[in-house]
Parts: sequence; structure tokens; C-alpha cells
Amino acid sequence: EAKRAGKNRIFFFNDHLSQEVKRHVQVHNEILDGLRKGQFELYLQPIMALSSGRVSKCEALVRWVHPERGLISPVEFIPVAEQTGAIKPLGEWILDEACHLSNQLRESGHSIQVSINRSVAEFYPKDADQRWLQIIDSHNVPHDMIVFEITESLLMDGGDSQLDKINMLRGKGIAFSIDDFGTGYSAINYLRHYPVDYLKIDRSFITDLLEDEQDRTLVEVIIKMGQTLGIRVVAEGVEDQAQMDMLKEFGCDYIQGFYLGKPLPYDEFIAFLSGDS
Ligand code: C2E
Ligand code: MG
Ligand code: MG
Ligand code: MG
Repeated sequence: EAKRAGKNRIFFFNDHLSQEVKRHVQVHNEILDGLRKGQFELYLQPIMALSSGRVSKCEALVRWVHPERGLISPVEFIPVAEQTGAIKPLGEWILDEACHLSNQLRESGHSIQVSINRSVAEFYPKDADQRWLQIIDSHNVPHDMIVFEITESLLMDGGDSQLDKINMLRGKGIAFSIDDFGTGYSAINYLRHYPVDYLKIDRSFITDLLEDEQDRTLVEVIIKMGQTLGIRVVAEGVEDQAQMDMLKEFGCDYIQGFYLGKPLPYDEFIAFLSGDS
């Protein structure tokens, strides 16, 4: 009886595992298929310089426009893509499309930097930096129009080979930004050795900025630290005017969030910039 129960348990466990693997394989194949069929789209979200009130940057955020399931959030497929390796072709498509949109933006008179997310898994291939530079140069995008958003964990755990890639790309004039700053290890020490250009304060610190004294203090300190180290600071997830005013008072350089504008498809983003929406 006990043996049978044990067997059943093992069976259940294996079955559960194989379900998970099956799902990953399925999503992996669907992503590759979706890439072939042009089902992915980049939305652009405005980033405003608080000193001038001008939109001088935007973040590219991928969406999967699925024929049956509709608009799928990156939160649902990026983590799977990272695990299966589908992130490599997907991430290359994202960079290629972002370069295309960067050129289109400038052709329509908008000199706006495009900020592109690069997850840790995207840095794994030995030649990732070379591949990305090739893609950027195949579009003749000026390097100073591109920003790569990375996470603290890449700087902390990536080792020398990942840092070499960052340094190579930075040497070519591509800017780097630390995304979700404050949620990772927050070992301030790495900022001295591996300088980046921007810090993006994570949304979770901004949400209760007016109500929570501790969050407010941390935000103030991060901004001061950025000023001291010569790193520009972007606040993520700004949803109202009071938050914007406070960030401006603290000397924050840029804001991004629904208060300014949601991520939009390219055509709507252009209309937004022209003040048509
Ligand atoms: P992230 O890079 O931190 O992007 C910011 C996320 O916050 C976006 O979610 C954006 O829509 C959302 N957001 C912006 N302003 C506000 C606000 O005021 N309030 C609230 N509640 N949310 C706001 P999204 O587009 O769903 O992306 C989620 C995450 O997926 C991103 O976080 C990033 O880690 C990942 N991701 C998105 N696009 C890409 C991509 O092209 N490549 C990679 N590797 N990852 C991506
Ligand atoms: Mg980001
Ligand atoms: Mg972020
Ligand atoms: Mg975030």
C-alpha cells in the first residue's frame, strides 16, 4: 500500500514536471512562430526631462499581439523566453525593431533616445555585444540614441565577461541604465567600479512617495547619490502630479509613468508627441 502511494507520488511529481516542460516547449515554439508571423510589437512610453518638460527619451516595451489570445504582457512570456533561450531571437528582433523606430522617430523630426531592456539571459552568448552592435550599425543609428536597461544582478553576478560587454558597448557610445534600482542587491559599491549613465528608481518606491516617509527618504537619497556620482536619475511609475512635483523638488532628472503617458504603439506615440492626443 505504502509502496503504491509512493509510486503514485512519484508519478504525480513527474507528471507535474513534464507538464511544465511541455508548456515551456509550447511557448518557446509559439514565440518562434510568432516572430516569423510578425506577431510582436514594440510600444513606446515617454520619458520626460523635468528641467525642460520635454520628452527626450522613451522606453521600448514588447507586446505580443496574439491572434487568439489578444495582447499578451511581457511579464507572461519574457521569463519563459529567458529560460528556453527564445529570448535570443526575440531580443534581437526587439533591438532591430527599436533601431528601425529610432530612425523613424528622427525622420519625423523627433530626436528621442530609445531605451531597450536587456535581461541577464540576453547577455549570456559570448558574442552578444558584437551581435547588438552589428544590428545597431546595420540601421546606422547614432550610438548616442540608444540606451540599454540592465538590472543590478547583471553587475553583481555577471562576472568579468558580462562587464567586458558593457564596457565595450559603452565605449562605442551606447548608454546604460540600471532598471528597477533599489529592488536588487543595491550594493552601491559596484557603481564606483562600473559606471552607468542612468538609474531608474523602481516604481515600488514611487507609489507611496507622498504617504510613506521611509520611501521618500530613500528616493531623496538615491537622487542625491546620483547627483554626487554624476549618474542621471529616472523615476519610474509616476502616476500623479503630486509625485512629479516632489521628484522635481528633490532634483530628479527624468520621470516616466502613466501620469505622463502609457506605453503606446508607434503611430499613437507620434501623435502624443505632436500633442494630438
Ligand atoms: P520594466 O523594464 O521595469 O518596464 C516598466 C514597466 O512598468 C512596464 O510594464 C510599464 O508598462 C510599466 N509602467 C510604466 N509606468 C507605469 C505606471 O505609472 N504605473 C504602473 N502601474 N506601471 C507602469 P510592461 O510593459 O508590462 O513590462 C514589464 C517588464 O517586462 C519590464 O519591466 C521588463 O522587465 C520586461 N520587458 C518589457 N519589454 C521587454 C523587452 O523588450 N525586453 C526584455 N528583455 N524585457 C522586457
Ligand atoms: Mg525597463
Ligand atoms: Mg523598470
Ligand atoms: Mg520595473
